[in-house]
Amino acid sequence: MKIGFIGLGIMGKPMSKNLMKAGYSLVVCDRNQAAVDDVVAAGAKSAATAKAVAAECDVIITMLPNSPNVKEAVLGKDGVMEGAKAGTVIIDMSSIAPLASREIYAEVEKKGVDMLDAPVSGGEPKAIDGTLSVMVGGKKAVFDKYYDIMKAMAGSVVYTGEIGAGNVTKLANQVIVALNIAAMSEALILATKAGVNPELVYQAIRGGLAGSTVLDAKAPMVLNRNFKPGFRIDLHIKDLQNALDTSHEIGTSLPLTAAVMEMMQALRADGHGTSDHSALACYYEKLAKTEIK
Ligand code: NAD
Repeated sequence: MKIGFIGLGIMGKPMSKNLMKAGYSLVVCDRNQAAVDDVVAAGAKSAATAKAVAAECDVIITMLPNSPNVKEAVLGKDGVMEGAKAGTVIIDMSSIAPLASREIYAEVEKKGVDMLDAPVSGGEPKAIDGTLSVMVGGKKAVFDKYYDIMKAMAGSVVYTGEIGAGNVTKLANQVIVALNIAAMSEALILATKAGVNPELVYQAIRGGLAGSTVLDAKAPMVLNRNFKPGFRIDLHIKDLQNALDTSHEIGTSLPLTAAVMEMMQALRADGHGTSDHSALACYYEKLAKTEIK
């Protein structure tokens, strides 16, 4: 089966390579020629536009930054819908607003094209290992039919409901991750300021109830002063904005998410937008005039 893959960034590049390792033929496209060249060298064919990708493939995967990028690549000029035929399926694996997923689906459905929203969690290391967690919205029958394609990039692929449900699940994930990193930062600054070695605090608590995947991934980064992304503050701001917008649309509130969003906004203003989200620790360090070490 020939699969189109649009968006070969930090995540899309290793994900596309894992699809080829699983035996699928790929036609790829990205605005960044260096990324295209890299994936072509691994065996893919390239196309100049999303329209040209869609003309050759029955399944199109998109892995783009945010809602406007996906709308442009799918519905815009030279986009997927200009080349797609009825029966094509779009699997959007980007993390975007659930409302945008539903809007895009409403448009593509008019032309007999189906869609799953299938964002991922796990970051670059799990994209490389092929052990991402995928959370999927759309028709169950379409999910079942394309499960194997998603599983070629993932450790788990879970159906969460109708179109948009994948991205609602991803927003829940992003709220938990952001609040965990903030909690970890708050705890490590407390330990440091109180004169206890934060490395020993981390080692002592990681096996107990405070232990978590987030703690194990991010505490070592803070302790080693390594804020190379990983997952950029800018992208997490995008996700928290989508979470806050979605919560306001449905009449609920996310007070802790709003607080962490403001910390991330302050970090971006301070030049940390392209740092890993573990740089939330730097916000606390500035308040406490203390470095976690
Ligand atoms: P990225 O910025 O590294 O890659 C995005 C790619 O899309 C770039 O190569 C860019 O050139 C390309 N692009 C943008 N618009 C395009 C268009 N119209 N046509 C063709 N190419 C286009 O982003 P990323 O880190 O790979 O993230 C992609 C998505 O995955 C985001 O929604 C992000 O939130 C999500 N995500 C990222 C991570 C992570 O750790 N990086 C983890 C989980 C989920």
